[in-house]
Amino acid sequence: MRVLFYPKKMKRTNFNALLIVCYFLFAKGLQSQTTPVYTVLFTHIEDNSPNGTLGTDVCRQNYLFIRSRLLDLGSTMNSYHIKWSLEPDWKFLLAALLYEDAVTIQSTNGKNILKYLKEDLNVAIDPHSHEKSGYNYTDVAHLLDSLGVGGSNVIGGHIWDPSLPQFAEWDRFRNPVYGTKYPWAVWQGNILMGSGTPNHVNDPLVSGVWRPKDRDHYFTDDPNGNIYCVGKYKEDLSSINELIDLYRTKSVDASCMLTISYHINPSSILAQNGIPTIETTILKPMDSLRALNEIVLTDFTNLISDWKSKYQSNACIYDPSIPTSSNEYSSTGKNEYELLANPVTSYIQINHSNGNEFYEIMNSSMKMIWSGKQIEHVNLSYYPDGLYLLRITENNKSKPIKFIKT
Ligand SMILES: [Zn+2]
Repeated sequence: MRVLFYPKKMKRTNFNALLIVCYFLFAKGLQSQTTPVYTVLFTHIEDNSPNGTLGTDVCRQNYLFIRSRLLDLGSTMNSYHIKWSLEPDWKFLLAALLYEDAVTIQSTNGKNILKYLKEDLNVAIDPHSHEKSGYNYTDVAHLLDSLGVGGSNVIGGHIWDPSLPQFAEWDRFRNPVYGTKYPWAVWQGNILMGSGTPNHVNDPLVSGVWRPKDRDHYFTDDPNGNIYCVGKYKEDLSSINELIDLYRTKSVDASCMLTISYHINPSSILAQNGIPTIETTILKPMDSLRALNEIVLTDFTNLISDWKSKYQSNACIYDPSIPTSSNEYSSTGKNEYELLANPVTSYIQINHSNGNEFYEIMNSSMKMIWSGKQIEHVNLSYYPDGLYLLRITENNKSKPIKFIKT
């Protein structure tokens, strides 16, 4: 067969090389069409861990058990080149200062476990703090410093609930904060990795990165804001696939960085057969998704640096409870929600609910004043009189209801 476009002066080998180069450019072009979901695997070690009174033998035994499992998980993650973010609260760090003695550190290259995880197993270490028992975020950051693993500016979770004024003050992180246990220590975090409500009942299930404006406009991006918020979204593999599909179906533009943070629970790490189970159920599926370029496995600090460099700090929030026109309930649908009383004076009452609904209340300028599942606890008597919008979402379908508050 005659090759029509075969250049006369080019040797066949060169031409084949050219074909190979073309093929790779083409393949790379195809690959870059997939936009990866930024995924962070993290673990919180809570302030009750290790169990027991610090200094006792029981506490030491508990510490050493947790230590061995964290090492196991760290090296398993590292064997997959999967990034892991470990975020301990104060008690584990005090225990480390106490129990990482010459004998203990023999198994970790002469380093305390945190230093070993960070330096030898490529684990990211960030502070986590419930700001209880007198330890605030700065105290936890200071303890990380003391163990030689400080430097992170990640605020590893915080309690925030727009419906509870005592938990609304996330903006305290805008300025450097002094420690309470260690009043000479000072620290400022700037990456919020997820906001939880008390007992996680109202957690915002959003994906994306933005700079919250103020405590009343948490989901509004302020380009001048000095705190970055990383949407946690939902904690399972099917939710990762849901986000991947948003790019695939072009429901979300590739210029929007979608994010998900997946908590590897300490109880699953400490469970019998814990590490092999985590490997099979989390690490292997994540590894496959990464091989398809459908996810990036990273830590919060690198996520924000990619957001700035690769996404030009383009703020966006994907919130599945905000409906598109195609998923509104029809006005004659069988799930016809109604308010039992309108106008509303204090509490909203709805004709029926099955407990799966997600509610949002917006004022007349469409600013969200509350969102969550437990609408029966929202007392509107504190809000100004006027027109409001209630949006009820269930199974990705929403119904908006206007009401008047008097
Ligand atoms: Zn916690």
